[in-house]
Amino acid sequence: MHNIILFGPPGAGKGTQSARLIKKYHLVHLSTGDILRGEITNGTALGLEAKKMMDQGLLVPDEVVIAMISNKLDQNPGSKGFIFDGFPRTQAQAAALDDLLLEKATAISAMYALNVEDEELIRRIIGRGKDSGRSDDSDPVIIRKRIEEYNKKTAPLIDYYKAQNKFVAIEGHGDVDEIFYLLCKQIDQLPVF
Ligand code: AMP
Repeated sequence: MHNIILFGPPGAGKGTQSARLIKKYHLVHLSTGDILRGEITNGTALGLEAKKMMDQGLLVPDEVVIAMISNKLDQNPGSKGFIFDGFPRTQAQAAALDDLLLEKATAISAMYALNVEDEELIRRIIGRGKDSGRSDDSDPVIIRKRIEEYNKKTAPLIDYYKAQNKFVAIEGHGDVDEIFYLLCKQIDQLPVF
């Protein structure tokens, strides 16, 4: 079983690479951003509440996303493992994830952090927003806020996973195929458990 965190700022390519990795390794993709957007589309109370934060480029409360991940883990008991995309984003989420996995007698295998420069992130996000219509992908002020939230609350998780010897930096600039190759090379070295 491989439980992988695909880490990095907004626009780093986590979603793109997750989509490829789940196919190759038959893992379950857990993206809290996608789950939240699903709640918004379905017009649930949770979605309406989360949208207020998302539209400002702010993180939604820890309890909300932790409960979502807990449910998804319960819904996929036989899986070969998970790719966590956009989760965890805070220390509290990282600690909760460790606890949830421990309850299932498993753990995070590795955290792959995609490195991309801020200006390139903004360029990519604006490009993506034109196709996806995502409201938080069009306004440069909101995009910068998301990157600021990442730097303040999420980037410190690198130290959390370094302390567990699970942090691996991946060059996130360049060709999608090349980055995929770098990720696969790492995953293929993981011990299977
Ligand atoms: P993403 O699709 O991962 O870029 O997430 C879009 C937005 O959803 C973020 O800007 C946050 O407002 C919210 N979000 C997604 N995942 C999380 C998380 N793990 N913790 C808090 N907020 C999140």
